Amino acid sequence: MFAIDEVLKRTMQSMGEDVYTKYLRHSILFYWKDIVGETNAKHIKPLRIEYKRLFVYIADSSWKPTLYEYKSTFIQKINDFAKKEIIDDILLGNPNERPKEDENVICAPPQVDISKELQKITLTDDELDEINKSCAQIESSSLKNIVLKTSINRMKLEKYKRQNKWHECEKCGALCPQEQRTCDVCTQLEDETFRKTITQILRDVPYATYAEVKKEIERSMPQMIDDFLPHTVESIRTSLIQQTANSLDTKDQNQVNLLVMLYKRIPLDKLNDKIINNTLYELRYNLPMKGRITFER
Ligand SMILES: [Zn+2]
Repeated sequence: MFAIDEVLKRTMQSMGEDVYTKYLRHSILFYWKDIVGETNAKHIKPLRIEYKRLFVYIADSSWKPTLYEYKSTFIQKINDFAKKEIIDDILLGNPNERPKEDENVICAPPQVDISKELQKITLTDDELDEINKSCAQIESSSLKNIVLKTSINRMKLEKYKRQNKWHECEKCGALCPQEQRTCDVCTQLEDETFRKTITQILRDVPYATYAEVKKEIERSMPQMIDDFLPHTVESIRTSLIQQTANSLDTKDQNQVNLLVMLYKRIPLDKLNDKIINNTLYELRYNLPMKGRITFER
């Protein structure tokens, strides 16, 4: 099985868990063809990865059953490639979202060799003294060597971040790149809360429009309003539709109503048997096997 270049992988790992996860996600999109095979890759195109969910685009809908049939195999292959559980679901993206036609647009994984960058950083005598002092108590010389090396690298990394104008995260104080308001960890936590809030709004009011959801976000998470785009709510609506469909018990009328209201964007009093039936027909490949009875249009 094709695997990621070991040296590059170790380099990215040394930059911390979040950078490494970003790198892995990027690599999965970049090496997609090698992971799922050429034929599958031709018909099932990766769009993006959000919180362990890979969104894909399928132009020819006759390939949708293939995706559902081999979904767990694909997930396994992706995680084997990354040597980490990086994906736990594969979902269809928003129907308006198209993969970039030019494959080169998905650029190669970052090639910045951080260990080379760190070699260019020198520590002052004071800084080295500080490290030596912190290791003075360690008796075993081999252990001492390891701790010294690690501490030197860590201090160099901190210096590298400062020299590249990294600043303190608004929330936790960790150093983060100039263009980010918060560090990767805080950004991810905030994003998850943001997504959870939007999901809850859609569960409560499944037919809510972009403007209606926006009003609620302005009230409850004003700091996120710049990130709130029509695309955000659409992608969350899509995954909520798929999650609801994937686990749908067609006998549970509340679940069925929720699914139809989300999908058709209409309130409860506008539902009727015909609309419900059409929706279940359109979403039949998303339904669990036992629920996949034939729906007539
Ligand atoms: Zn932070």
